[in-house]
Amino acid sequence: MAASQDRNSGLRRSRREFLSTTAASAAALAVGRGLPAAETQPGASAHAAPGSVTKLSDHLSVYHGPVNVGIVRDGDRALLIDCGAGDLSAALKDQGITKVERILFTHYHRDQLCGAYGLGEGARIGVPAVEREHFANPAAYWEDDKYLWKVYRSFRPHHLMPVEPLRADDALTDGDRLAFGPAKIQVLLTPGHTEGSVSYLVEVDGRRVVFSGDCIYDAGQVWDVYSMQKGFSHGGRTIGGYHGFMGDRWRLVESLGRIKDQGPDLLAPSHGNVMQEPARAIDALAERFETCYENYVGISALRHYFPELFTDYAGRPGQMPIRPGIEPPDCLRHYGTTWMLVSKSGAALVMDVGSPRIVERLKKMLADGEIRSVDALWVTHYHYDHTAGIPAFQEEFDCPTIAQKRLAKVLTDPTAWRLPCLMAEPVRVERPVEDGHSWQWHEFKLTAYDYPGQTLYHDALLAESDELKMLFVGDSHTMAGIDDYCAYNRNWLGPGVGFPYCIDLIEKLSPTHIFNCHVADAFTFTPDEIRFMRRNLDERERLFGELVPWDHANYGLDPSWVRCDPYTQKGKAGEKIGVDVVITNHSAGPQRCACRPLLPKSFGGVTAPWIESEAPAKTEHRLALSLSVPAELAPGRLVIPVDVKHGPWHLPQFAEAIVDVVE
Ligand SMILES: [Zn+2]
Ligand SMILES: [Zn+2]
Repeated sequence: MAASQDRNSGLRRSRREFLSTTAASAAALAVGRGLPAAETQPGASAHAAPGSVTKLSDHLSVYHGPVNVGIVRDGDRALLIDCGAGDLSAALKDQGITKVERILFTHYHRDQLCGAYGLGEGARIGVPAVEREHFANPAAYWEDDKYLWKVYRSFRPHHLMPVEPLRADDALTDGDRLAFGPAKIQVLLTPGHTEGSVSYLVEVDGRRVVFSGDCIYDAGQVWDVYSMQKGFSHGGRTIGGYHGFMGDRWRLVESLGRIKDQGPDLLAPSHGNVMQEPARAIDALAERFETCYENYVGISALRHYFPELFTDYAGRPGQMPIRPGIEPPDCLRHYGTTWMLVSKSGAALVMDVGSPRIVERLKKMLADGEIRSVDALWVTHYHYDHTAGIPAFQEEFDCPTIAQKRLAKVLTDPTAWRLPCLMAEPVRVERPVEDGHSWQWHEFKLTAYDYPGQTLYHDALLAESDELKMLFVGDSHTMAGIDDYCAYNRNWLGPGVGFPYCIDLIEKLSPTHIFNCHVADAFTFTPDEIRFMRRNLDERERLFGELVPWDHANYGLDPSWVRCDPYTQKGKAGEKIGVDVVITNHSAGPQRCACRPLLPKSFGGVTAPWIESEAPAKTEHRLALSLSVPAELAPGRLVIPVDVKHGPWHLPQFAEAIVDVVE
């Protein structure tokens, strides 16, 4: 991979306009009703009009763009807190401001700072010390494959990483103080939304206002839930970020406590409404976090793997009791994450191959006469602890690999996706089968199911013979409930999607045994347990819907509701390439949506026109972009951010596509 230096110079040589978008939505435009407005929560202040300015005092105001920008004025000069898309020149001019002298950032997310590249010229820039690298050298992230592929131990909720470096003059830490004109500003370390987020207490004109970044959206609300996906320790046990759903809510609540201790008159968030009663707003959020998390724990499969983490919740009324497992039938073997179904004739159907050691095991079983043949491979999902041994398996055994079609798309073309624990190497699938497809295999009737459980792209296989009805659910359940500990796997809430869909399927199939790849015991769910889980998930849809400002919980839970397909692709200089922006409309009604790609500023910064269309309710909607790779572009990685509008929301640089420019 070429150094970024080369790429920049290559680009500067190119004078032609090298980005063009054509194309429109693949879907026909339907004439729909008006867009639902964002709902105002009880106790929250009214939404400020986009582009308006709220004056907080003589020297302090907030500009309401895609993110709120704090403006501290001193004569004709200003200090900004965050800058959003940078579209505030009219607001500055209205206040007689001719010069932005300083910009302070609350955190590194690119919706906070994407406008800074133009605005910040000549301005002194202050950033949270912990996140300085993300500002100054984002290429260190984008060019390191450990953040793209097999993301497990290296898991961090690193969406919205800047694409372009931004000079960081001051690295700010807790307790730092600075002055700007009549204003005194104090830095408060407030991690939670990101690892190094800071807030700024501004004292001016007799008021104390905290600019709190994305710590809180409004009374009892946060902008998203998935940013809190982080590891944590409790009861002597530690888990990593991949397992840590809402793992940073404790740190966030501590951070909010630190803000509260300052006794601010007002709280100005990056996204959301200026809060008139900071203490009440914060207390409401802390309480809601606890209610939501208790609901989450109630049916979490994690209680099986890490009981120490959840002892505080054990025995509470909302917690589904965990029944012990049952003995698997004789026709099964379990090694690593592999279940093996062995027919009376000695033929084996292998499910998942997480490591080449399984291939060695199979060879030994054949040699020992324990099995007579290996007939087929079934894949439950794309996590590499289930697929890393498949190439070795396919090399050794001449038999078909079978997966349900939706999963097969991820397995065979992984670099088009961005998902945790996914390998960049494709897995060959000879038999992609439809959801519900059945076939006879020796004495077993097998049926393939789409099973959007642990991840949105996941299978289940039902094997029936005599009185046995065995359902292989990959990693989607343990006897403790459902496996939804990583928001980045995309666990949707609502009737007919995600786990609610899976639980309906279990009820319909009523298996005698359910199998998880990591658990040696089988289990089942009783009708009461099914009702319990369904009630929990119905309740969850409502609770998390109240926790976030969006009109459905899934916007706050699903980090990939806007994604680029393909996520990464190879392209040659001078070529045209296509990218679909896939917007999942989680709302109950249609939403007007739009997107446009951007080329990073130092690459010329050409902004394409918006492509607009209407996304029907509860669908994945595609907007097709066509991009021209500059003719004189040197090889290397190009990250292309995409601006998004969805209903009332304007989301600068909310998604990105990667193009690896090759010779
Ligand atoms: Zn943010
Ligand atoms: Zn898994």
